[in-house]
Amino acid sequence: MTLERRGEAHSGSMPERVSLRENLPFWGVHVVALVGAISVGWGWSAALWLVGGYTVRMFAITAGYHRYFSHRSFKTSRVFQFILALLAMGSAQQGVLWWASHHRNHHKYSDQPEDAHSPRQHGFWWSHCFWLLRGNRTTDLDKVKDFARYPELRWLDRHDLFVAVAWGFLIYFIGGPTALFWGHFVAIVLAWHVTFCINSLAHVWGSRRYATTDDSRNNPVLAVLTFGEGWHNNHHHYQRSARQGFFWWEVDITYYVLRVLEKLRIVWDVEGVPDHVRDAQVAPARARIAAHRAGVSG
Ligand SMILES: [Zn+2]
Ligand SMILES: [Zn+2]
Repeated sequence: MTLERRGEAHSGSMPERVSLRENLPFWGVHVVALVGAISVGWGWSAALWLVGGYTVRMFAITAGYHRYFSHRSFKTSRVFQFILALLAMGSAQQGVLWWASHHRNHHKYSDQPEDAHSPRQHGFWWSHCFWLLRGNRTTDLDKVKDFARYPELRWLDRHDLFVAVAWGFLIYFIGGPTALFWGHFVAIVLAWHVTFCINSLAHVWGSRRYATTDDSRNNPVLAVLTFGEGWHNNHHHYQRSARQGFFWWEVDITYYVLRVLEKLRIVWDVEGVPDHVRDAQVAPARARIAAHRAGVSG
């Protein structure tokens, strides 16, 4: 089968000025979220819609876009894979194949010039969201051939905006304006910036257990907000694992939910982290980092 190719996944462009006009939908969602949320006001209903809307989106992003479609760290049925993609696309982070292709590129070139969103290369705000606002809308299907062979996923990927808007209409019909503004628009904006923080903050703020060649960090605050993605240095050290909190005290809500789904036989072959991978480099890495710091300060 010949795969449709819609341009190269972005890599390594230098920061340029971000056009306000070209990114009106991005800024517009922020404005609608703010104005709409203020206009309908806060209360129990708003809180429940916000928590629910954020939780579904964040889980679908971490379990679906990241751990399944980007890293194949567990297996599931074709039906549940579609559901995961559909739920994640309610977060308006572009299509499932786009997300996975760019993320695979990130791991291939982490913090190197070809990395599309490295704070080391282009600065914090570029890594956080400006890289998205300067083009980067195309999907390199060659990087995701394993999932691009499913026509339903290619359809979703091409109609990402339609899916996100349809989500909005559905939520409005279920819960009215409060649901629309708090459960959709505010939830999207929160999920955007918390997800973006893994590309920006999780490469500059936190501790480094493993001496990976990139700048990835472990950060408990980000781990709680992202349901486990904040253990980013663990993840860069061993990408295959569906578990990113390597120790019991490293909270990883997405992994706990995946284990429940595994018990229900909705997912299976959930990859863990082998003990020797988890433990082997810890002490040597600490020694190397300490030696490096001593060398730098000396
Ligand atoms: Zn990853
Ligand atoms: Zn990273």
